[in-house]
Amino acid sequence: MKADPTAQRRLLELAALDAELARAQYRRRTLPEQTAVEEAETTVRGHRDAVVRAKTSVSDLGREVAKLEQEVTQVRTREDRDRGLMDSGSVSAKQMTDLSHELDTLARRRGVLEDEQLEVMERLDAAETDLAHEQSQLETAETSLADAVERRDGVLGDLDVLEERRGGERTTLAAELPADLVALYDQLRARSGTGAGELVGNRCGACRLEMDRSELRDIAAAAPDDVVRCEQCGAIVVRTGKGANA
Ligand SMILES: [Zn+2]
Repeated sequence: MKADPTAQRRLLELAALDAELARAQYRRRTLPEQTAVEEAETTVRGHRDAVVRAKTSVSDLGREVAKLEQEVTQVRTREDRDRGLMDSGSVSAKQMTDLSHELDTLARRRGVLEDEQLEVMERLDAAETDLAHEQSQLETAETSLADAVERRDGVLGDLDVLEERRGGERTTLAAELPADLVALYDQLRARSGTGAGELVGNRCGACRLEMDRSELRDIAAAAPDDVVRCEQCGAIVVRTGKGANA
């Protein structure tokens, strides 16, 4: 293939743009800001689960307190009824004794229930404190997540701008160069990652390997508009005259 030496030299600009775009893509895939977002999401999920658990405890204990309250009320109603009967003077001495025994039993039963109620209320209190704590932890985690998302989106936005700008420059430049040269360059780039490299001294700028004397001699002998390729990596070798010591 032959191509105007100026066009060949401009391939290096194209290669520089492509390298920058590849770096941006790599950065996009390996963004530490993205890792931070994922970690913050995991933390938020953990706190959300903790809040759900704490809410469940609060509602379970609340139900338990209500149930005990109901039982205490039932005992009290029974006690009131028994006392009413005793006060009515309409019951026999035997019934009076039975009622008195029942009242003792009911008082003990109520004492047990009230102790239990007190204990459950204390646990409810602790569960409510725990829930408030978990909720504030969740809020903190959600704020951290929002910050992490903002930072990541900022970096992604910068990358969008860079990719759009450099991508536009690349499109314009590629359109200005001979189509067959660009096609070859793109094909080589797809294969090895780099389509063209500058010949600096005796090294290929694409693979950075040294060329042997015979390869250098061939390159030196080639016409300026010959498109020469690196024997090692296949990239187009661009001769800029800089330090080419053939
Ligand atoms: Zn090479």
